[in-house]
Amino acid sequence: MSDARKTNVESAQKSVSMKPDNRQLDQKLIDPFGRQIEYVRLSVTDKCNLRCFYCLPKGFKSFENPANRLSYDEIERVIRAFGELGVHRIRLTGGEPLVRKNLAQLSARLSSLPGIDDLSLSTNATLLEGQAEALYAAGIRRINVSLDTLDQCRYAEITGGGKLDAVMQGLQKAREVGFNPIKINMVVMKDAPVDEHQRVMEYCMRHDFTLRFIETMPMGLPGQNGSEQYLSLKKVKQGLDRHYDLVPGLMTGGGPARYYRINGTDFQIGFITPISQHFCETCNRVRISVDGTLYLCLGQEDKVELRTLLRAGISDEALKQTIVDAIAKKPERHEFNQKPNQVVRFMSMTGG
Ligand code: SAM
Repeated sequence: MSDARKTNVESAQKSVSMKPDNRQLDQKLIDPFGRQIEYVRLSVTDKCNLRCFYCLPKGFKSFENPANRLSYDEIERVIRAFGELGVHRIRLTGGEPLVRKNLAQLSARLSSLPGIDDLSLSTNATLLEGQAEALYAAGIRRINVSLDTLDQCRYAEITGGGKLDAVMQGLQKAREVGFNPIKINMVVMKDAPVDEHQRVMEYCMRHDFTLRFIETMPMGLPGQNGSEQYLSLKKVKQGLDRHYDLVPGLMTGGGPARYYRINGTDFQIGFITPISQHFCETCNRVRISVDGTLYLCLGQEDKVELRTLLRAGISDEALKQTIVDAIAKKPERHEFNQKPNQVVRFMSMTGG
C-alpha cells in the first residue's frame, strides 16, 4: 500500500463519523485499501424457484442444511452489529428471498434497527404479486428485479421453466404499491436475439424502470456458470449507440453500475461490468450467506463463519470485533479475468 493510502486509511480509521441517524460511532469499517464498508448483501436462502443456467444449474442439490440457516433472531443480531459499525444499507437476496417464509417479518425487524436507513430487495419477482404490499409495509422501498428477456419461451429456457407472466404481475404490483426505484437487472448473453437489449430497454422506458445490464461472472463450475455466454457490455453499448444518443448519467446509488442517460430524457441505463472493466476499487460491500458466513469478496474465498460464533454465545462486543477483524482481510479485488476457472461458489450460495 502506498504511504498516501496508508495515511488515508489510518486517518479514516481514527475519525469519528456522523451516521445518517446522527449517532456517534467510534469505529467505522475501513478495509486495508481505504474503502469504507457501508453495505451488506444478506442471503436469506440459497433456495430458488428458478434455475437460471448461469446461476443455479439444473439438478443442483447441495443446498444448505436448514439447521445451518441463520434464524431471524441471529440475522437481526448480526445486522445490528453491522449497523453499529456504520453499515446503513442492507439488501435481502438469495437464492430467491421470497421463498423464505415470513420475509416481511424479518424486513420489519431489520428496517427498524438503529442506523439501517436503506433496506432493499433483489428478487426474480415471480412471487412478488402476493408479497409486495407486506414487504413495502415492512420498510423495503427499493427493489431490483432480474429479467433477461421479454420473450416467454426464452424466459422459460433461461430460467429453467419460469413464467414470464408472473414476473409481469409482480412488477405491476410493485409499481402500484409504490416501490421506487424499481430496477431491472438484465444479464446479457452472446446468443441473445439482436434486438433483445433494445426491447428490454424500450419496455423499461415505457414503465419507468431503471435498466441495468450485467456481464456474466464465472461463478460456480465451468460450463454451468454462463461464462460461455459472456458478452462484453462494451459491445452492447456500441450496439445501442447506433440507435440512441447516450450521455453519461448521474444516478450512482453507491453501487457498481456506471449510468448513461438517453439524451433529452430522464431514462437511465446502468452498465455493470465486473469483467470488462472491474470496479473493485469502489467496493463498499460484504456478503452474508444463508449459513451465516461473511464473505469479503464475491470472487474470492476469504470468509469468516459467524454462525458458529453466534451459537457458541459470542458477546455483542466480540461479534463486532470479529467483523472489524474480518474487514481487515478484505481482498483488493476479484480475479475473474486472471483465474477464470477458479471455482468460487455458485452465485445462489453467496447471494448475488
Ligand atoms: N433471486 C433473486 C434475483 O433473481 O434477483 C436474487 C438472487 S440472484 C443470484 C441476484 C442477481 O445475480 C441476479 O440479477 C442474477 O441475474 C445475478 N447473477 C446470478 N448469477 C450470475 C452470474 N454468473 N453472472 C452475473 N450475474 C449473475
